[in-house]
Amino acid sequence: MYKFEGVKTTFSSLLGLIFCLLSAVHLEHYWQSYATTISHLTLPVLLFSALFSAQFNRSRLALTCLLWALLFTSQSYSVPWSEWLDNKTSWLLLSGALILLFTSLTQDRALLSRHSFSRLIILSIIGLCVYYWLAYQGELDALLSEHTYTTLLSPYITYHVPLFLIGCLLFWRSVTRKCLTLATLFSSFVLWLAIHMNWLILPLNIVVAIVALVYLFTVSIDCYFLAFRDDLTALPTRRALNQLSLSLGRKYTVAMLDIDHFKKFNDTYGHDIGDQVLKLVASKLNKVKGGGKVFRYGGEEFTVVFSGRSPDIAFNALEQLREDIANYDMVIRQQQRQSKKSRQSSPPSDRKTVNVTVSIGVATRQAKQTFEQVIKSADEALYRAKKKGRNNVSN
Ligand code: GH3
Ligand code: MG
Ligand code: MG
Repeated sequence: MYKFEGVKTTFSSLLGLIFCLLSAVHLEHYWQSYATTISHLTLPVLLFSALFSAQFNRSRLALTCLLWALLFTSQSYSVPWSEWLDNKTSWLLLSGALILLFTSLTQDRALLSRHSFSRLIILSIIGLCVYYWLAYQGELDALLSEHTYTTLLSPYITYHVPLFLIGCLLFWRSVTRKCLTLATLFSSFVLWLAIHMNWLILPLNIVVAIVALVYLFTVSIDCYFLAFRDDLTALPTRRALNQLSLSLGRKYTVAMLDIDHFKKFNDTYGHDIGDQVLKLVASKLNKVKGGGKVFRYGGEEFTVVFSGRSPDIAFNALEQLREDIANYDMVIRQQQRQSKKSRQSSPPSDRKTVNVTVSIGVATRQAKQTFEQVIKSADEALYRAKKKGRNNVSN
């Protein structure tokens, strides 16, 4: 499920970028007359995108903006590094691809910190390594020419195989993490490759301006998710619930759901296992039937909203949900790791199965009731469910 989400994010980002590029091609006659202005604006937009990313702690995208700035300035202005980079296009291609890969393996940290200093050193080392790797290509050719049929392999060993591996790793990082920044880094790699292989018909200033706008968009969406998605369970937060409440009609049912004896559970198994259980319960909640929309209300409490549905449909869906959770054998991983030897000699005891139950309070909106009042009624119903002995749905 998580991997599927990652694939979705990766391809959405890639398709988004392709859509922007195709639109630019399609609308060429509109922007053609402003080409010079756009060319002057590209660098400021890229700089703005870098500052915007850094401001919202997306240092990886800010760093990638610098990579694009290096390419753009070297080709569009007469800067000291223009001539050198003109003769070293393969160095730029390979170093850029490796920098994107390195960036995808790191975390977003404040741009002005000691981490940035060590990252700059690593980036310089990457540049140096690629320089020597390419410099010794001649020697590799000489070595391979002894076996005539292998001379053809030389460019593959030098560029194609490393680029293919970098692409695969970036793709893997992106699909396994479900992170928009990683998906954008993978798309950036594809674009970086396309530029160097001359696959694009758009001028570089337009491509770089599109990259800057895509980065701005990525940071904005990421910040939206930061505000409206819960980090632990990936469910929408209470803030998202409040937003939804503004657009609900007159007919809806709200359920408040609370995990039973969770304090005791934490005391027995530890807070980390408690967190794993919250994630597993959230994944079950996401499968609620009857068109219910699930939110993390706070702590181990969740809210389900059934908009426009009859109370019976909601009640049945919640009863089914309660039963599913009670019967769900949750496999959790203990934190303490065994040695390799003891793992081989005994069955894996770091995996354990636990069960939890939930109590649910349901309330359907009555005439003239506000959303807050419906939530309050659902909360009172939850209190009754707890009083009745827990693991039940009450209204
Ligand atoms: P009851 O059946 O009456 O609901 O009992 P309870 O122990 O669940 O009672 P209560 O709702 O007061 O306790 C909530 C506990 O949930 C307290 C806190 O330790 C735990 N909790 C809240 N948020 C989190 C979280 O994010 N992670 C973990 N691991 N535990 C949390
Ligand atoms: Mg509670
Ligand atoms: Mg509880």
